Amino acid sequence: MTKEAIEKFDGLLSVMLSAKPKYPLYASSLIKFESTGECFTLCKLKEIIWFDIIKKTHDGFGGYMDTRVLGKSGLKVRCIGFGGIPIQRSTPEMASGIIDQMIEEGMNFIDTARGYTVSESYIGQALAGGKRDQFILATKSPAKTYEQMKADIETSLSNLQTDYIDLYQCHLVKSREQYEEIMSENGAYKAMLEAKHSGRIGHIGITAHNAEFLMEILEEMPFETIQFPYNLVERQGENLFKRAKELDLGVIIMKPMAGGAIEDGELSLRFILENPNIDVIIPGMESVELVTKNATVGNHYLSLTSEEHQQIDDFKEAMGNRFCRRCGYCLPCVKGIDIPTQFLLEGYLTRYGLEQWARERYASIPVNASACIECGACEPKCPYNLPIRDMLKRVHANFTK
Ligand code: SF4
Ligand code: SF4
Repeated sequence: MTKEAIEKFDGLLSVMLSAKPKYPLYASSLIKFESTGECFTLCKLKEIIWFDIIKKTHDGFGGYMDTRVLGKSGLKVRCIGFGGIPIQRSTPEMASGIIDQMIEEGMNFIDTARGYTVSESYIGQALAGGKRDQFILATKSPAKTYEQMKADIETSLSNLQTDYIDLYQCHLVKSREQYEEIMSENGAYKAMLEAKHSGRIGHIGITAHNAEFLMEILEEMPFETIQFPYNLVERQGENLFKRAKELDLGVIIMKPMAGGAIEDGELSLRFILENPNIDVIIPGMESVELVTKNATVGNHYLSLTSEEHQQIDDFKEAMGNRFCRRCGYCLPCVKGIDIPTQFLLEGYLTRYGLEQWARERYASIPVNASACIECGACEPKCPYNLPIRDMLKRVHANFTK
């Protein structure tokens, strides 16, 4: 097909591209113009031909949602996956709708954790009845000892209503000391290896927030995947991802929206997808609409324009390094302050132009930033070493200006 022939379809294309394909993909083929580097994808969806344009200027990306290999695990993952934190706020019925929508959108990777309260159970219920095999299932435990990890793997299997978990990860390993405890004779790794040998889990991975520490153990560790934060403003993992790829480790990206600090999710996902060293992004999703919105970025990928690159740089500069990712590790506060919510509301007040709404919300919170007695108990728990006390003072000052 010539480019001229394709252009004749322009009017039709704009109509088709504004609709959402409701049919399973039957076949697709990629047409690349050598002169411009543009890729066009022709997809057959039941009775209709879906014509998609992928404005990408290099090889290896195109078609429907991109499938990437998760390093030496060999797992073939679609590039947009599912993060299981926010589903805790949902219901089992909503979780079921979310899983169905993921199937519809061609997503195949689910990540959850023992620590996400009902997340494993909701996902397990939603997958029951024949949907389990359509997904690569990953979960994780913070256990450091053999006994605790062994028990946690069994609990995960039971919660997820399956006899096999594709990827089991050590959750939030913070230091070499913790790593060595996991790898010790009676450490958690022994239980993971046993579960792997008995066919209860398929592969073993690690999650961390500290790039320096993870880089330090990267070559000696026996894990097959790493999970690490990456987004418009948190780019400290870029060298880590590059080295991980060289070592044939799978790279899973968490916190793609910086824990809610980034409002433009589409821009952030597109930015992350530009990095050739990452395999799958796991934005948290608690609604069917959000599944569709995030999946669309993978299903109809558009590379960033120079204006968008500038927009990202401006945003990064405005955010600085000292911002809250809303991970909640600092909680509970001794005075009952919901610490991440204080920073979120401050963001609405100072960055997103929702001043009135943010002021009303802040005033209605029974225990707000002003209740901080500066005991400092929260600060060592923050993986980003944020000066929480000073930041809470700033929040209150902003709200009382
Ligand atoms: S320093 Fe303030 S925010 Fe942190 S635990 Fe103490 S009272 Fe809570
Ligand atoms: S202050 Fe630190 S620990 Fe608490 S939610 Fe924010 S980033 Fe997480």
